[in-house]
Amino acid sequence: MRTEDREYFKRMLEEKRESIMHDLGLLETHLMKATSAESSGDQIYSDHMPDLGSDAMEREKAFMFASRDGAYLGQLESALKRLDEGTYGVCRVCGVDIPRARLEAVPTTKICVSCKEKEHDEKNS
Ligand SMILES: [Zn+2]
Repeated sequence: MRTEDREYFKRMLEEKRESIMHDLGLLETHLMKATSAESSGDQIYSDHMPDLGSDAMEREKAFMFASRDGAYLGQLESALKRLDEGTYGVCRVCGVDIPRARLEAVPTTKICVSCKEKEHDEKNS
């Protein structure tokens, strides 16, 4: 993938990430947390989720990732990581470069169309 394409998708993914974080209220939450972290009892979610460590932030993240938007946010994060690693836009099954048009339509995809169709066929056969 060319550098300018990487920059392009990086911006796109970061914009999507920001807008989802905004939708989830994360940007505001973090600001609030700074002032009320100690008093706001962070046990609210503990009945619903595995304890991922003592860090309240981690628990909150896990809770968030359980939602649909949160899952998408996770996909965006991992796409951004692949961009950094240089594996973004490469099909994880057959290793071909995923066409730019497909990446524009589904920027978090890890798989090319023909592999996706194959996977789909296998699941349904
Ligand atoms: Zn493929």
